[in-house]
Amino acid sequence: MKKNIILMGPPGAGKGTLAKQLKNYYNLVHISTGDMFRDAIKAGTELGKLAKGYIDHGDLVPDEVTIGIVKERLSQKDCEGGFLLDGFPRTLPQAEALSLLTKEINRPIDTVVNLDCDEKELVRRISGRRVCKTCGAPYHIDTMKPKVDGVCDLCGGPLYQRADDNEEALKVRLSHYVNQTKPLLDYYEKAGLLRNFNSLRGSEQVFDEVKEFLEK
Ligand code: ADP
Ligand code: ZN
Repeated sequence: MKKNIILMGPPGAGKGTLAKQLKNYYNLVHISTGDMFRDAIKAGTELGKLAKGYIDHGDLVPDEVTIGIVKERLSQKDCEGGFLLDGFPRTLPQAEALSLLTKEINRPIDTVVNLDCDEKELVRRISGRRVCKTCGAPYHIDTMKPKVDGVCDLCGGPLYQRADDNEEALKVRLSHYVNQTKPLLDYYEKAGLLRNFNSLRGSEQVFDEVKEFLEK
């Protein structure tokens, strides 16, 4: 089974949702650079202070910082049984650093799962997105409502709207995606690792298709 996995796709395509499903089902380690930065901001660490300015504007955190935190995390013992990279790599230098690292620690990437989604739908998903402040679980005000308004089904934590889930920051995020991240699809296609899934089909269907593919 494929167990060292990169999840790719534009912001709002459903990487976080799919990551949570796969993590629970296969017991993989979920490495979300966005979550790591948000945790650091919440904790008020130096990393958080540095990252906040970039994130709130929709800009990318500098490569050397991001690569550093992923190196540290991916090298830990618990990643031995498989991991999901969500939101990393986002630039060519990050992808190259990851290739070196996975060789070094002998944990090669098995596959790159890419979620396709059209831009109109991304905007709809992100503008209605709410996230649990405690555990990071994603919701949507129309299509993925929690059982109780404003409260996380999983952990009871409060739901909030991310500071970068506004129209302005989203435009910036989408342009970084198109200019810096999308070219990586070519990089992984050439490496024979890329597999595309249509995220418009809905999260349960995508989850089923991805499971089937990973187990093949
Ligand atoms: P989304 O996929 O919805 O855009 P993420 O939670 O993955 O959101 O990331 C939120 C923000 O965190 C990004 O807009 C960026 O500022 C920062 N970030 C996350 N991952 C990276 C990365 N690999 N490189 C640079 N910045 C990152
Ligand atoms: Zn929660």
